[in-house]
Amino acid sequence: MAEGRTRPAWAEVDLDALAANVALLARRAAPAALCAVVKADAYGHGAVPVARAAIESGAAWLAVALVDEGLELREHGIAAPVLVLSEVLPDAAEALVAAGLSATVTTWAGLEAVAAAARQIGVRAGVHVKVDTGMHRAGAAPDRAAALVEGVEADPALGLEAVWTHLAVADGVDEEDRMFSVLQLETFDRVVSGLHARPRLLHAANTAGAVAWPSARYDLVRCGIGIYGYAPSAAMADGGAGEDVASFVARLQPVLTLKARVSEVRELDAGERPSYGRRRALPERSVVATVPLGYADGVPRRLFDTGCPVLVGGRRRPLAGVVTMDQLMVDCGPGAAVAPGDEVVLVGRQGHEEITAADWAARLGTIAYEVLCGIGPRVPRVHAARRTGGAR
Ligand SMILES: *Cc1c(COP(=O)(O)O)cnc(C)c1O
Repeated sequence: MAEGRTRPAWAEVDLDALAANVALLARRAAPAALCAVVKADAYGHGAVPVARAAIESGAAWLAVALVDEGLELREHGIAAPVLVLSEVLPDAAEALVAAGLSATVTTWAGLEAVAAAARQIGVRAGVHVKVDTGMHRAGAAPDRAAALVEGVEADPALGLEAVWTHLAVADGVDEEDRMFSVLQLETFDRVVSGLHARPRLLHAANTAGAVAWPSARYDLVRCGIGIYGYAPSAAMADGGAGEDVASFVARLQPVLTLKARVSEVRELDAGERPSYGRRRALPERSVVATVPLGYADGVPRRLFDTGCPVLVGGRRRPLAGVVTMDQLMVDCGPGAAVAPGDEVVLVGRQGHEEITAADWAARLGTIAYEVLCGIGPRVPRVHAARRTGGAR
């Protein structure tokens, strides 16, 4: 695969792996359709190529967090249904409607903003009314949702496409979390059964819901992390939600590989302490390689403290010191045959070794989502698919 344009550091995005993940999730959720969540530049994977590949491999819908993200898809000719997951501000409603994006509505003010834009443009805007069943981030209160749905149905400028909600702990495996998901789904069902007619679409599940909660699948599942090849939580991967869930998420393939080429190599004596703060002494005379990726690229400075290795020459090697803004140093060990230009893998496979975003997340006390989204905009994304024969 090719690398970045001028910078010897890049993220490879394997669209075949993405397609396989989409197909696996779509099959598991069927007959519910799949909505590929491509917000935040497709969790750092590149929204446009990911959206195209997801649609080609079976996703019926796309979802984004921001109107701007939806516009980017439309500007690149992506015509599939796109849901904007947050309610639109009045100033942005016209752009949303003009681009044919579907609006989330959680308030009367939001309803009116979308309707005004639709009347202005002379089209009917698609609306998904969102109900807050316990996440308490966004959504109409359960006892107000029916009136909002009726308001959408009564307005000729609006077309009700869906009623939906979002689960807070579908990835949780303990009894309290499971009870809460049951409660959220019961609340959602109660709201829906209070409507005079069932909306065309109901949706509630994120990846965790789609994989582990059959009753949450309804007509559409909104999968983000799963299409990028990761389990929503370590507990789900470790069998906490049952063997069936663990074996399913084990079949998802990580899509992103973070790589760079060694820029400099030096042999240093035992006791030398590379990088700022001189935090770590080389245990013996060793080859130290400099790699042009740093915390400005989303390699956390703290990764050094966690003892996280990188892959050089197919072997796991420790960082030789703290990660700097643009570069990091690797202790390749005594007499290592490492040369400038050699490929280093920070996240992904090399030889028989693999380091995943989930490994980083476990070490850093966060989740794979944050690791993936943290890979910065100055790291070029290289999209490749063996199936279609090369980069696109
Ligand atoms: C981000 C998001 C999703 C996707 O969640 P995953 O856990 O990545 O599958 C689904 N629904 C909403 C409302 C979201 O914000």
